Parts: sequence; C-alpha cells; structure tokens
Amino acid sequence: MIIVLKPEATQAEVDHIMEKIRERGLSPHLSTGQERRVIGVIGDERTIQNVPLAIFPGVESVTPILAPYKLVSREFRKDNTIVTVGDGVAIGGRLIPVMAGPCAVETKMQVTSVAQAVKKSGARVLRGGAFKPRTSPYAFQGLAEEGLQFLAEAKKATGLPIITEVVDSRDIDLVAQYADVLQIGARNMQNFRLLTDVGKQRKPVLLKRGMSATIKEFLLSAEYIMAGGNHQVIFCERGIRTFEQLARNTLDLSAVPLIQKLSHLPVVVDPSHATGRWDLVAPMARAAIAAGADGLLVEVHGNPEEALCDGEESLTPPKFAEMMDSLRKIAQAVGREI
Ligand code: PEP
Ligand code: MN
Repeated sequence: MIIVLKPEATQAEVDHIMEKIRERGLSPHLSTGQERRVIGVIGDERTIQNVPLAIFPGVESVTPILAPYKLVSREFRKDNTIVTVGDGVAIGGRLIPVMAGPCAVETKMQVTSVAQAVKKSGARVLRGGAFKPRTSPYAFQGLAEEGLQFLAEAKKATGLPIITEVVDSRDIDLVAQYADVLQIGARNMQNFRLLTDVGKQRKPVLLKRGMSATIKEFLLSAEYIMAGGNHQVIFCERGIRTFEQLARNTLDLSAVPLIQKLSHLPVVVDPSHATGRWDLVAPMARAAIAAGADGLLVEVHGNPEEALCDGEESLTPPKFAEMMDSLRKIAQAVGREI
C-alpha cells in the first residue's frame, strides 16, 4: 500500500508511522517527490489491516498498490527517479549518458586507450567486464580482480566512472570497491539471491532484461533490488530472443516507453547485445534515443578483430565518434542532450 503524507507532516509523525509499520513486520520505504512524500509499505499487508493508518497524524490517504511490483511502480513514485553515477552523471533526467567501452577488460592498455577515445567522443561512463558470464566454460571468463584494477587505472586516467558486471553474490563486495554501477547481466536477471544481495548494498544497479523475460518479470526483478532498500536501479533493454536469426537478438524498443509508463526508474538501451552486429548498433542507438531512452550502453574495442569477446558487435573508436555525432542531433530533436 501507499501512504500519502500531508505536506505539513512533521518528522516525528513520519517516524511514528514508519515505526508502526516495522512493528508489524513490514518494511516502510519513504519517497520524497516534487509534490508529495509517500511511504510504500512492503510485505504481508494482512498484519497491518487492523491498524487505522488513515487517521494517523500526518497521513492524507492510504491506497493499495495494484501492480504486483510495488516500489518500482509509478503508483509508488510519480516523479522520474534520477540515478546519480559517480560524481554526478545523472541518469533519468534531460541528459542521455552514453556508457561505452569493451565487452571485456583484456589489458591495461586496451581499456585505458578505449576509455580515452570514448571520453573524447562524449561518453560519460566507462563499461567493461571483468567477470564475464560466458555460454561456454571454455571461453574467456574475464580477468576478475585484475580486470577491476585495470578499470580503476582507466578511471584515474580519464575521470570516467565505471560500470561493470557482477555475476555472483560472493563477488559483490569486491566489485563494489571498484564499480560506480553494478551491472546484473541478462543471464542473471532472475537470479533472485543475487538481486536480493545487490539490493542490500548502496551502489546503483543496472539490471539487464533477461533474454526471454517479459516486461512484468523484468519489473519484478527490479522490485527484489528495491525491496532491499536500494532504490538506485536502472533498467536496460538489451534485446530478447525471437525466431529471427540474422541478428543476435531482437531489440524490443517498445519496452522503453512502456516501462517508463509503468515505472519511475530510468530505462537505457544496449544496442550492441540487442543486435550482435556492429553495423546495426548506430541505427538502433538513434532509434532508442528517439523512443525516449535515458541512456545507452555500447561496446567499443580498439581492434574488434582481435577482441576476446563480442568483437562482431563492437564499434571501433572512429565509428563510435561518428555515431555520437549523429546521436546529438536526435537528442536535440527530442529536447535532450547526450
Ligand atoms: C554485457 O553487457 O557485457 C553482457 C554480458 O550483456 P548481456 O548480459 O546483456 O548479455
Ligand atoms: Mn558483450
């Protein structure tokens, strides 16, 4: 349920309501919007049915949240959530930050030179996997902590904050020491234990859509993270499996405005994994911005032919620069900037 607070509700009144909710074994989540403050109540609401919350001082109204996802829903929060990454890259506002870098961190040189190149072209965040979720156990699995250290060096050289994937709960503390955003990959979208665990820490989380996940399942996975108290969640549409064979996945672009309608959280698009082909990345990135995406996640490699992972969908730095120029015009046309 949602408890809408009166504008004049005092801190003591709010604390009292939150305390009552906790006493009944439920979790209160306070959200402060531009126009109103609300408390989302999560848990088995039967335990609080006989508490007349509507007449508590400071309470304006009490309404049930009808959607199965609660904290994630627009009912819980009317305003868009802005997730701040690093020292101030805002995702979910007017700016459309582009997060770019290699699929996998390979060497210190490789990641630093790509970081410098993408920064020059206007990227705001550096991406790169140190823990890679690979389909084959014989494929390159990532450099693990050494890869995180290389990302840290690239961050030092460029000032770009870092997004990198965590594939296992046991690595969360380690990855969070280096990452500004923790990425949950498509293959782990329904790894509920991992979602719960990243919900307990406070770094922003970028959650990728599972390759066969419905939008409702996607929203419920974000609910796992928010239920732990971490409200800094970014959705990432990265394509879904269809009968089509010529592209790696099919980009479900309607997911962008649809999720934005159902949820207050930002939605970014990954045109690289969505297509699996470098020649489709820029057109799909342009379409994503036209559709209202709040950011992009793009793979860039200095020498895609030699990439240890996903070379076929990686842009070279000059191709990335060209794409960025074209994106600026689309962003401007929809009243935003890159
Ligand atoms: C990635 O972004 O590195 C990745 C593995 O993507 P996905 O989880 O979408 O396949
Ligand atoms: Mn990849």
